[in-house]
Amino acid sequence: MENKLSGALSSFDAALAAGRVAQAYLVVGNLREEGLPFAEQALMRLFCGGMMKPCGDCPDCTRIREHKHVDVAWIEPEKKSRVVGIDRIRDLQSMIYQTSYSGGWKAVVLSGADRLGEDASNAFLKTLEEPPPRSIYFLLTESPQAVMATILSRCQRIILSTEPERLPEPWRAELLELLSEPLAGGLMGRLIRGKKLEALLAGMKKEVEKEETVRFREEQEALRNPDDRKSQKGDEEVLAARIEARFRALRSMVLRMMLFWYRDLLVLVCGTDPSQLRHQDQADILQGIARGLCYGDALANLRMVEGMERQFERNLPMETVITGAMNGLSA
Ligand SMILES: [Zn+2]
Repeated sequence: MENKLSGALSSFDAALAAGRVAQAYLVVGNLREEGLPFAEQALMRLFCGGMMKPCGDCPDCTRIREHKHVDVAWIEPEKKSRVVGIDRIRDLQSMIYQTSYSGGWKAVVLSGADRLGEDASNAFLKTLEEPPPRSIYFLLTESPQAVMATILSRCQRIILSTEPERLPEPWRAELLELLSEPLAGGLMGRLIRGKKLEALLAGMKKEVEKEETVRFREEQEALRNPDDRKSQKGDEEVLAARIEARFRALRSMVLRMMLFWYRDLLVLVCGTDPSQLRHQDQADILQGIARGLCYGDALANLRMVEGMERQFERNLPMETVITGAMNGLSA
């Protein structure tokens, strides 16, 4: 991870030295651990007033580190709606077209480039299409697949982490919702959560079946010579294998999200700083749940969820795995 970051910064240095800095960069990676550090380091290279750039120490470097530099706009999704609203984009438009205070660059750092609402996307696209001179954009995202294509096409990509892509919507939201619901109802609460989780996975499998079947049929149609087509039986096997593989990948994402959820709860129960959370956008909810948890329960919950993947791998029936795990949970 560290190497990717320094490698990306070296490339940026080289581009800067050659006067070939791109207008906009899409920085793909964990926001806190990779995206923001990259943006801060790159900005220090542009604004640093020290002798050895970036010094990390001069007033410009310090203001960048504190996100207070007057020529840099930091934009992030609103806490409640989790989207970047049109108002924030309008603020940035009025800022970026003003003359730079420091007589040099103007910069924008957009955390969560995948969180622009439709209006905000279009407005933001305009500033990308008509950039004032000496302006630069860093678009940070953990889900590049969710960034609008017209925005993507205007950015140079910097890939800092190859972490598996995140669970697609609406499944992600559904999963977070069912994890957030309090388990106060005792056995009934666990039963309901188990059923919801089963329904989520079943719906996911159905969707995968539908998509893969359509794609497979289209591929088959595209084969010009009918003799090239594999036998009908072979077809069915190939298709079934594809469906299974994609479903397993999605199921792993579900389990990983759950794992991070219960790991986050344990982190909070241990009194660790909330900035360490993986589900950063759920910090308030997690903190609420963690208040009612003791260390032993938080650890047991995590173990329970860890066991689910192994059980799935051993081909235990979905209902058995889920019911077993849910009955053991205390949050
Ligand atoms: Zn400096």
